[in-house]
Amino acid sequence: MSINYTFQTKLLHNNHKFDPETGAVSVPIQHASTFHQKDIDAFGKYDYSRSLNPTREALEEVIADLEEGVRGFAFSSGMAAISTAFLLLSQGDHVVITEDVYGGTYRMTTEVLSRFGIEHTFVDMTNLEEVKAAIRPNTKVFYVETPSNPLLKVTDIQAISKLAKQHGALTFVDNTFLTPALQKPLALGADIVLHSATKFLSGHSDVVAGLAVVKDPELGARLSFLQNSFGAVLGVQDAWLVLRGIKTLQVRLDQSVKSAEKIARFLHEHPEVKKVHYPGFAEHPGYGIQKKQAVNAGAVLSFELEDEQSMRVFVENAKIPVFAVSLGAVESILSYPAKMSHAAMPASEREQRGITDSLLRLSVGLESADDIIEDFKAALSAAEQSKQSILQRG
Ligand SMILES: *Cc1c(COP(=O)(O)O)cnc(C)c1O
Repeated sequence: MSINYTFQTKLLHNNHKFDPETGAVSVPIQHASTFHQKDIDAFGKYDYSRSLNPTREALEEVIADLEEGVRGFAFSSGMAAISTAFLLLSQGDHVVITEDVYGGTYRMTTEVLSRFGIEHTFVDMTNLEEVKAAIRPNTKVFYVETPSNPLLKVTDIQAISKLAKQHGALTFVDNTFLTPALQKPLALGADIVLHSATKFLSGHSDVVAGLAVVKDPELGARLSFLQNSFGAVLGVQDAWLVLRGIKTLQVRLDQSVKSAEKIARFLHEHPEVKKVHYPGFAEHPGYGIQKKQAVNAGAVLSFELEDEQSMRVFVENAKIPVFAVSLGAVESILSYPAKMSHAAMPASEREQRGITDSLLRLSVGLESADDIIEDFKAALSAAEQSKQSILQRG
């Protein structure tokens, strides 16, 4: 393995640096669905591509190494990875889950797992007392997402993992927002790290993929069984795209985080912006924990404008970011959680969790931060003018 290299170098110099067969410096895409077997007594390593495929396997090894785990799994989407991990549970089990979890995970928990007799309790994961109070004798999983989506709340992975261990439960961490370049949940005590590789890992808004990594071989064997049973595996072309994206992960993040810090500061100081959620600010309640468990605060932030009307005018006038769901791409992405990522959540739940109708999320890409700031200045000024004209008319 490549243990002596820094993370940045490991992205390129790993077991799949070149193909041992041909020397090709890009992992070959193996399209075969089935593999010829020598004879009735000697089956090769590969037999059928749902179970194992060399291209997918390369990605699975690369992500396992980067997350400092022993085994990785690639799925057809982030939700397929998350849903397959949930299949480790059985009827009667209970999950303690972060209240501002990704909308799809919310839907999976409340509308699918519930039908199979798997119970859940939503908690503010940043409040350890609340987490402790939610534990039941049948609690089997603690589900963490940090920083959370879209409010960027920070959960102490080490503290939750410790609590989970005391109760014989597993800790799942959705590491989509930071990636192993910035945060390594397994090293902090988690059992399974999950990814929507659709986001920063692949990074170019051109593939939907999910990953899971474990550090315990026995848990790896159980997840491997479930991956093969459920069958939501990643296709080989997509596995290759994720492998290619991963090569530039560090430089993309370095640039995007630098810009995110600058843009967050600009928004924070702007009178039209009511609130900025970014764990890179010393005044953010999770700042200390973020500093302790991650390299920096990442490239995603959210901010609240005065009201829904200001938000609408801002979105109409901000020209640089694409207005879309998703995050973690080369282009900046502006999204509206209330109607996009969190549309699956009832309005009352959303409001209660602080996902208001004037909240926007920004995933910072690779454009010049100064250009984005100029663009936002103009959009905020348009929002201000629209407010003035409404006041005058009124
Ligand atoms: C996008 C996302 C998911 C779901 O991943 P898909 O690849 O869209 O299925 C899960 N968690 C987080 C934090 C996400 O941003």
